[in-house]
Amino acid sequence: MTEQELTMDFHKNAERQGPGSAFETRKALGLTGLDQDKPIKIADIGCGTGAQTITLAENTNGSIIAVDLFPEFLEKLEARARELHFDDRITTMACSMDELTFNEEEFDLIWSEGAIYLMGFRKGVEQWRPFLKTGGYLVVSEISWITHSRPKELEEYWRSSYPEIDMVSSKIRILEEVGYLPVAHFILPQYCWLDNYYRPMREGFSGFLTEHDHSKAALAFVREHEQEIAMYEKYKDYFSYGFYIAQRR
Ligand code: SAH
Repeated sequence: MTEQELTMDFHKNAERQGPGSAFETRKALGLTGLDQDKPIKIADIGCGTGAQTITLAENTNGSIIAVDLFPEFLEKLEARARELHFDDRITTMACSMDELTFNEEEFDLIWSEGAIYLMGFRKGVEQWRPFLKTGGYLVVSEISWITHSRPKELEEYWRSSYPEIDMVSSKIRILEEVGYLPVAHFILPQYCWLDNYYRPMREGFSGFLTEHDHSKAALAFVREHEQEIAMYEKYKDYFSYGFYIAQRR
């Protein structure tokens, strides 16, 4: 199995593929001030198995196009949407986030949790902007520094993992430069990482290793994720996801 196949296999049965919570998703949605009863059009980019897609369906009257690169994740979301009778409002699309061919001004709301880093924050907010109606909302969570300075070990770790990590104020500046009005932001609390993401991840390691016969690749996968968790536990006061709520000018 390739590394990518292993990653998918590990994550596909998880509730979420990144830090977050239904409460924080609702909080961010509330900050847009969008009318819950209006039949708006929403894109959820990098949706994974769709934890936040379902929350969006529950708390809006929108029709949602949920986009992810991996059909296996989308199948999970489709099954969940059917169970909850949201299949008339949630459709899925397997496509890379940097190759989207939506129409200009198609959406009232573009959502993306824990995913825009995969193409880079600036590139993402630039490329997706034309798909938003003027006055439409962009809501993205993006890995961010939450203190002004930080330990060297942590800087180096992130410099190699995601060099675009930056201060909240820098992310907001990018939004301004690209043509958005920053409306609000907040920081994802630690329970979103520890209880909702890393705890289930840890619980999954042993079954995953058994399933893959303790293969070298599976062991390397688990080791890498254990290191990620250890970095978070050690340095959680210095970084988190920022949730950014902005409006297309
Ligand atoms: N929003 C979900 C998933 C976040 S993890 C949550 O918060 O739980 C990031 C997601 O982006 C994964 O589902 C991954 O499959 C997807 N992804 C990775 N590369 C992508 C790409 N180039 N285009 C679209 N989605 C991608």
